[in-house]
Amino acid sequence: MSESTSSISFDVSDDQEVIRQHIRAFVEEEIKPVVLQYDESQEFPTEIFRKLGDLGYLGIVIPPEYGGSGMGYLEYAIVVEEVARACPAMALGVAAHNGLCTSHIFRFGSEELKKLYIPRLASGQTMGAWGLTEPNAGSDAGGTQTTAVRDGDDWILNGSKNFITHGNVGDICVVMAVTDASKGKHGISAFAIDKSMPGFYASKKENKVGMRCSDTASLTFDNVRVPGSHLIGGEGEGFLQALQILDGGRISIAALSVGLAQGAYEAAVKYATERRQFGKRLADMQAIQFKLAKMSVDIDAGRTLTYRAAWMRDTKQNFTVAASMAKLYASEASVRIAEDAIQIHGGYGYIKEYPVEKFWRDSKLLTIGEGTSEIQKLVISRALFSAV
Ligand SMILES: Cc1cc2nc3c(=O)[nH]c(=O)nc-3n(C[C@H](O)[C@H](O)[C@H](O)COP(=O)(O)OP(=O)(O)OC[C@H]3O[C@@H](n4cnc5c(N)ncnc54)[C@H](O)[C@@H]3O)c2cc1C
Repeated sequence: MSESTSSISFDVSDDQEVIRQHIRAFVEEEIKPVVLQYDESQEFPTEIFRKLGDLGYLGIVIPPEYGGSGMGYLEYAIVVEEVARACPAMALGVAAHNGLCTSHIFRFGSEELKKLYIPRLASGQTMGAWGLTEPNAGSDAGGTQTTAVRDGDDWILNGSKNFITHGNVGDICVVMAVTDASKGKHGISAFAIDKSMPGFYASKKENKVGMRCSDTASLTFDNVRVPGSHLIGGEGEGFLQALQILDGGRISIAALSVGLAQGAYEAAVKYATERRQFGKRLADMQAIQFKLAKMSVDIDAGRTLTYRAAWMRDTKQNFTVAASMAKLYASEASVRIAEDAIQIHGGYGYIKEYPVEKFWRDSKLLTIGEGTSEIQKLVISRALFSAV
């Protein structure tokens, strides 16, 4: 038998481990003590994000010449995972800012747009928002109704977006709008706009079950005059750009799910070793051990799928299906794990002094945002059938 020349590694590098320890130390010191406070107040943690920006975690995959950290998607996944291990809502902010708005302008914007907006975003001087979803266009984003009509060299935007992360706190936003209704999805274009443009404002702020300190708001565009240079890429390319941005975003939501699950699992292990009933620790009961065993397998499987998708992205392979698989598996596992973590805590799990109820509330969004579980299954099954 000939010797195999293929190689596979399940180790993260020493440099990646340093990044994990660095963000973990920040999370322990700056985030963990205030998680519940921000959850209760639903206030966006501006000061924490300012510090994350100073540390380079708001421009993770952006090259240094634009003010970013020049890291890869694997490092990005590690950072999101570590923040989510303590606060999934803040991790959602890191993911949306890096993976949606900033990535979209960086990947598809002109040099002029990149110079204008990327340094401000990568440093955390302002948060970025990304507007695809509308009241009548959720999973079916091709049904976008916001319009952009040419007026000389400018475009005039009208319409609205809803459920937009950083809708209030973000000054810069990427917006998908119809520029040619006759072309369907290929008539949707992307624009980079900012709050200095009259007629662009945030309206309804959502009161959510979980992810409560993440800012979610509706956006209104009322005759917003947008210079022609703010069109991202070519006319009609916005929908395909958005799909590609969502592919990358799904890696970060998968990483967020893994981190959330890890946090809930660690809380459950700790509680199971402390709590005694029937004269023994919960950890000594096989029913509890089996739950924890299943949780640890799910976390490992989710993490492996997530890191594989990030590695495929970093090595420039087609990662669309890998990202959907990671997002589907890890997000659904995180909901199960957070629920089991509550079950292991019994009544105490339902009380806010323990961290697991928040993990549970936060987890559900992960099966919905950046493409629901059903949409991930559509992406995966389309690839299956295109291959036969
Ligand atoms: C907290 C939060 C933050 C968000 N942040 C952003 C953001 O920053 N930017 C942004 O653009 N959007 C954002 N969203 C929107 C999010 O991406 C959408 O909610 C999501 O894509 C689903 O759309 P919908 O809510 O309209 O549900 P719908 O599309 O109406 O779906 C309802 C149900 O029908 C199912 N369904 C729909 N179509 C199909 C189909 N073809 N086959 C099978 N089942 C189907 C769905 O899976 C779901 O179960 C956010 C949402 C939330 C809640």
